[in-house]
Amino acid sequence: MSADYGLELIEAEILYTGMGLPIRNGAVVVSAQTIAAAGDAAQLRAQYPQARTGRQVSVVSPPPVNAHAHLDMSDYAFQALPYFRWIPEVVIAGRSLRGLAGARRGLETVQASGTAALGDIVWPGTPEVMEWLLTEAEMSGVAYWEVLDPNPASAEATFHQVVLDVERFRTLERPGGMRLGLSPHAAHTVSHKLHKLLADLARREGLPMQIHVAEHPSELELFSSGTGPLAESFLRMVGFTTPGLSLAETLGREPGPDLTPVSYLADLGVLDARPTLIHMVNVTPQDIRLVAQSGCAVVTCPRSNANLECGTFGWAEFAAAGVEVALGSDSVASGETLNIHDEFRAARAIHPDLDPRLLVRAAVKGGHRVLGSKAPFLRRGEVWDERYLWPERP
Ligand SMILES: [Zn+2]
Repeated sequence: MSADYGLELIEAEILYTGMGLPIRNGAVVVSAQTIAAAGDAAQLRAQYPQARTGRQVSVVSPPPVNAHAHLDMSDYAFQALPYFRWIPEVVIAGRSLRGLAGARRGLETVQASGTAALGDIVWPGTPEVMEWLLTEAEMSGVAYWEVLDPNPASAEATFHQVVLDVERFRTLERPGGMRLGLSPHAAHTVSHKLHKLLADLARREGLPMQIHVAEHPSELELFSSGTGPLAESFLRMVGFTTPGLSLAETLGREPGPDLTPVSYLADLGVLDARPTLIHMVNVTPQDIRLVAQSGCAVVTCPRSNANLECGTFGWAEFAAAGVEVALGSDSVASGETLNIHDEFRAARAIHPDLDPRLLVRAAVKGGHRVLGSKAPFLRRGEVWDERYLWPERP
């Protein structure tokens, strides 16, 4: 019997159909650009003996999602430094590099790497990037408008401006394009007053939120004792704009041994607005319980965390607690590239003991959950797309 060259059986170490859990040793059968079957490789080989075989890949799945990036920093050079030095010496020192030109180049990388959707943080110094993302960029996902203001005395004024910005940006959203979101930058760079106002606004307006939380060990130290390298560099930076502002004024309370960035946000009621929490590397078991109870999702950026000496995300602990985890690249300045497949391969290397099926699910379903979009299903009758074959290690 001659082989039916119209049918091809492609084998994968991991198959994720977009439904249920990914499986090991899976396969898809493709005929005339249409999926004829997806499932266990041995079963499909028996069922389709006439199918052409030979292609074997590590992952067959809907394309992954990059749930956290900073496109407007794409003209920065990559630089590994401890987080508390990286912020002033790289991010702030290089801010003239931020803007639309970099964002356009960044999006090209994201598109070329086969990313299904993007969560992008937009710096308030470059509103033209937000306008472009909402009106023109060929990508789905969420563009989060970043807010930074540690001074509670200016919380009302800053909030008023954010309300105006949100009203204006909302008129620019278009079907199929990116949606608007909000990003209070971090637990300690937005005052307690402003955190509450922003969380209420997000809840009222149905705006998705992302917040950088518990990124580096020095952030835990800042909340528990008000000392350490992050507290020092933060107060030095604040000194230029708001001389004399103390950490207790920003936080609305004194730092204390039981205070963590996560418990602080929970106490303020911010977690009730179900923001997506970015990084979450330096957390306590109680923090993980709080996040699980609140239903917040988490985005991990493994390369950025390694490069900024943040530590390793406790993926297994979050997964065991039932927290939705997604994958993000962060900016090129800490994450090296915006290619989510690079991030996925790095995640496998950084978490060698983790079931890789969990990583695939996070990169796809976790990301779509964060951004409010949907993965296509790989099932009989659906159109086949070669982007379902994830690229191998270069
Ligand atoms: Zn980030």
